Amino acid sequence: MNCTKCKTKAAIKLPRHHAAFCKNCFNGFVHDQVAKAIKSQKMFGKDDRILVAVSGGKDSLALWDILLKLGYKADALYVNLGIGNYSERSYEKVRDFADRVSVPLGFTLHTHTVEQEEGAGIRELAQLVHRPTCSTCGTIKRYQFNRAAIEHEYDVMATGHNLDDEAARLLGNVLHWQEEYLDKQGPSLPASVEGFAKKVKPLYRLTERELAAYCVLNKIDYIVEECPMAQGARSLLYKEVLNRLETESPGTKQTFYWGFLDKQRKKESAPTTMAQKDQAMLRSCTTCGQPTTAEVCSYCKLMVRAKTPASR
Ligand code: SF4
Ligand SMILES: [Zn+2]
Ligand SMILES: [Zn+2]
Repeated sequence: MNCTKCKTKAAIKLPRHHAAFCKNCFNGFVHDQVAKAIKSQKMFGKDDRILVAVSGGKDSLALWDILLKLGYKADALYVNLGIGNYSERSYEKVRDFADRVSVPLGFTLHTHTVEQEEGAGIRELAQLVHRPTCSTCGTIKRYQFNRAAIEHEYDVMATGHNLDDEAARLLGNVLHWQEEYLDKQGPSLPASVEGFAKKVKPLYRLTERELAAYCVLNKIDYIVEECPMAQGARSLLYKEVLNRLETESPGTKQTFYWGFLDKQRKKESAPTTMAQKDQAMLRSCTTCGQPTTAEVCSYCKLMVRAKTPASR
């Protein structure tokens, strides 16, 4: 099998693009896809300061690497969830990448340690507030990433969500007809109000397999196993189903998700979208000042419950 572009020996086959690439041409393809995503969704420019949410997994480390190679100013934030060995090993991967690649280029790795800042690891916190671990984790990560972006004056926050993540999320939202979530799902969410950072997903045109290949070919060491809390998650089932469809019919995931984005773009000209209605309801949390639709934001409510002896 030879590279579609330069005809030397190919390193990876991409059925959804009817192509095969050698390492160099594959890197060019990955960089092009990210550059296209950034441009078409008006994510950020060369002068903007970007904060990348890194977890130690392939997607977020590949994202940090690609943004730096494309010449963007990108620092990163790692949230240490305090999940035993998993968190230790994922932090090692992030630290190693930062020390080897980002810090020598003058970029910074920020860290937030949940055990220190919120007083307990994510599993213990979830037990204290009687909520599922992943929903507690989501609340804390969203809050802390936004806080770091605002406090350190970043222009935009970037996450490593890929095409598989977005297509699985779309499938879940469609299966349950969660119109409210459908309306908010997209690769570029503007900074709706003062205090809310703009959020972007520059990897939405690349699959999990392509990002894993990018890391392997570029010697980016990442944590291979999923977070132990992800076991049994619905999103994994949706990904499996989409992978079966993709094997039978290459290109299914991108047709599904990109088609949705096309429809969403056309809808944006409609007078008032649900996201705009939501924005109109935002106000400052009376405890911490971050934007929220309630009087007190969900992070502050969670922390009150975690610290109230009656909830234990
Ligand atoms: S699987 Fe759950 S606990 Fe683990 S990182 Fe994801 S949301 Fe957090
Ligand atoms: Zn080539
Ligand atoms: Zn608050």
